[in-house]
Amino acid sequence: MASVSLHNVNKIYPGGIHAVHDFDLEVADGEFVVLVGPSGCGKSTTLRMIAGLEDVTSGDISIGERRVNAVPPGDRDIAMVFQNYALYPHMTVRQNMAFGLKMRRTPKAEVERRVAEAAQMLGVEAMLDRRPRELSGGQRQRVAVGRAIVRNPAVFLFDEPLSNLDAKLRAQMRTELAALHERLQATMIYVTHDQVEAMTLGDRLVLMKDGVVQQIGAPLEVYQYP
Ligand code: ADP
Ligand code: ADP
Repeated sequence: MASVSLHNVNKIYPGGIHAVHDFDLEVADGEFVVLVGPSGCGKSTTLRMIAGLEDVTSGDISIGERRVNAVPPGDRDIAMVFQNYALYPHMTVRQNMAFGLKMRRTPKAEVERRVAEAAQMLGVEAMLDRRPRELSGGQRQRVAVGRAIVRNPAVFLFDEPLSNLDAKLRAQMRTELAALHERLQATMIYVTHDQVEAMTLGDRLVLMKDGVVQQIGAPLEVYQYP
C-alpha cells in the first residue's frame, strides 16, 4: 500500500487548454478516493498524471516517498483499469491476466497462483481459456480488474470503469468493487461522472469543475440531500 500526494499540480495541454488548476490532494494508505464531476472537468487528466501517462506542467506528484517521474513507467507500483477494458483481443483471459507479470519476469508458478486467485475473487474461473470477444461487457471488465489485481499494486487507478455497462450490471459491479477494496485494503483512486458510484464507493470525494477542485469531503458532506 502507499499514500499518494499531489501538490499544486497544473496541466496545460499544448494548444493552451488549462485542464487542471493548482490541484492539491493527499490520499492516505488504503483510502478509496473518487474524483467526480462532469465530462471535461479534468478527472482523467489528473488520473493519467498520477499514472505517469501524462506529463505534469507544474507541481509534484508522489506515490509513497517517491516522485512519480523518478520511477520508470514499468516500475511504478500502480495498476490502472480503463473504461474500454483495454484487453488484448488475441490472448485468452488467462494470458491477458498473466501478461503484466510475465513482462516482469515473475516465476511461472507464482503467475499461475496469482491468476487463479484473482479469477476466483472475480468469478471468472470458468472463462480463463476464452478470448475477450467471447465475454460479456461485465465479464471483460472483471478480467480488466483481475489483470490489475494480479500485479498486487500499492495503488489502483480506475478511469470510468463501469461507464460501458448497463445499469443493472453497474450496480452489481459497484458492490463488487466495494467488496474488493474491503478485501485488498489497497489505495484506490477512481474517476467517474456518476454521483451514485461516487457516493457508494468513496471514503472521500473530490468534486471537480472546469479543472478546479470545488470540494473535498466524505460523500454526505459533498452531496447534501434536500
Ligand atoms: P474528464 O476526465 O473530466 O472528462 P479530461 O481530463 O479528459 O476531463 O479533460 C479535461 C480538459 O482537457 C478538457 O477540456 C479536454 O478537452 C482537455 N483534454 C483532454 N485530453 C487532452 C489532450 N490530449 N490534448 C488536449 N486537450 C485535452
Ligand atoms: P527535468 O528533465 O527538467 O529534470 P523532470 O524529469 O523533473 O524534468 O520532469 C519531466 C516532466 O515531468 C516535466 O513535464 C515535469 O513537469 C514533469 N514532472 C516533474 N516532476 C514531476 C512529478 N513529481 N510528478 C509528475 N510529473 C512531474
